[in-house]
Amino acid sequence: MSKVLVDTSKCTACRGCQSACKNWNQLPAELTRFTGSYENPPAFLPYTWCRVTFNEYMEGGAVKWYFAKLQCMHCAEPACMNICPEGAISRTFLGSVTRDWDKCVGCGKCGEVCPHQVPKVSSLKKMMKCDFCYDRTSAGEPPACVATCPSGALTFGDDTSILAAASARASQIGGTVYGEDNLFVYVLLRNKSDYKIEPGPLNPGSGPGGGGPGGGGGPKPKDAGAQGAGGNEDAGGGNADEDTKGGVKKQAAAG
Ligand code: SF4
Ligand code: SF4
Ligand code: SF4
Repeated sequence: MSKVLVDTSKCTACRGCQSACKNWNQLPAELTRFTGSYENPPAFLPYTWCRVTFNEYMEGGAVKWYFAKLQCMHCAEPACMNICPEGAISRTFLGSVTRDWDKCVGCGKCGEVCPHQVPKVSSLKKMMKCDFCYDRTSAGEPPACVATCPSGALTFGDDTSILAAASARASQIGGTVYGEDNLFVYVLLRNKSDYKIEPGPLNPGSGPGGGGPGGGGGPKPKDAGAQGAGGNEDAGGGNADEDTKGGVKKQAAAG
């Protein structure tokens, strides 16, 4: 099994990974607004599957930046897969978590329970998220985000070597390893909460056994096809459906 090491200590927040993800997957631009931070967008959007968090803290009387490249973690225990009522989310032979757009009805339950607030429903009522660049990784090639990273913050390799590299790097810099069981493994210098790496589910009561009869109750994300988490983004989905030929057209064909 292959994994990706995200060494946050080497990330310069150039957002090359964010652009490469858009480019390889032919995802359109989405309109965003300045919110007082360089972090843009401040939440995942239907056509933004990779983003970088900007986190600043005072250390020794000076401001220090900490960055984290985020995407679907391809969890060892995927809450999204477990709750999907249509069986539209499954695991590939690579261990990645994927979605079947033919089966997806755009109910958004996956987006309510994901601890990383990753899945977003498009205007075509299809769940959208990182697919571990299946077309590349299934051929043994690194994901587009990894291939483009200029600082060496991202490494693709077999799980044994990635976990060994993560452990060695954490020891070297006095950091910790996060997400060993997932396909994306992180080396962090601060607590995970300082990177907004696992903000928790948007609707904690919506998991199995919670939030109403039979579980899965509670409100759906407001207009999930047009807004990101927090409702402060314009998705620009209208033009997006017509302007691109990759991910958007694929989901259109499926829907
Ligand atoms: S491409 Fe590499 S250095 Fe640039 S933001 Fe992404 S992870 Fe960080
Ligand atoms: S990060 Fe969220 S969307 Fe990705 S596998 Fe985990 S629960 Fe599912
Ligand atoms: S693995 Fe592929 S789809 Fe996922 S964030 Fe990286 S470039 Fe985007």
